[in-house]
Amino acid sequence: MAVTRFAIALGSNRRHGTHGSPAKVVRAACCALGADGFRIERISTIRSTPALGPAGRGFANAVLLLSTSLAPPELLKKLKALERGFGRRRGRRWGPRVLDLDIILWSGGCWEGPGLVVPHPALRGRRFVLEPLAEIAPGWRDPITRLSVRQLFARLQRRRPVDRAPHGI
Ligand code: AMP
Repeated sequence: MAVTRFAIALGSNRRHGTHGSPAKVVRAACCALGADGFRIERISTIRSTPALGPAGRGFANAVLLLSTSLAPPELLKKLKALERGFGRRRGRRWGPRVLDLDIILWSGGCWEGPGLVVPHPALRGRRFVLEPLAEIAPGWRDPITRLSVRQLFARLQRRRPVDRAPHGI
């Protein structure tokens, strides 16, 4: 497959035995993706934000752009393997997680298959994704709404806080 670009969201809300704080987990995951052979084009600021769910911990979030010749399902497999490598606990939606990786946007447009939907269905309601994405790819257009990331973020900012999606990933 030709080389295409992906926006990947990274999130953590649990300390890691070796890497340390959630922000350090996110930084380590960015490095691990680079070491895995992906071409990392841009990395947003890593933001630390308070959790809203009953997990009761702060999150660290960032978004990066990478290019690869892998198709979306192959990339997802790699991301899930990396999550496992960081020791994510599965099963509890709001439970603390060491690392969460999501495919947000793909330069190839839309993808829908078993266990994978791109653009990520929650993209448009998540400030912790749109804000860092707007920092590194403001002009990237969501193929569904045709709005740019900058426009999606501005739209989200205008909504009442109660409308916003909770902080789970
Ligand atoms: P999560 O809530 O991040 O643990 O994701 C749970 C499942 O969502 C994953 O195992 C994927 O199979 C599925 N999924 C669907 N669309 C996406 C996407 N765009 N990025 C990452 N995972 C996705």
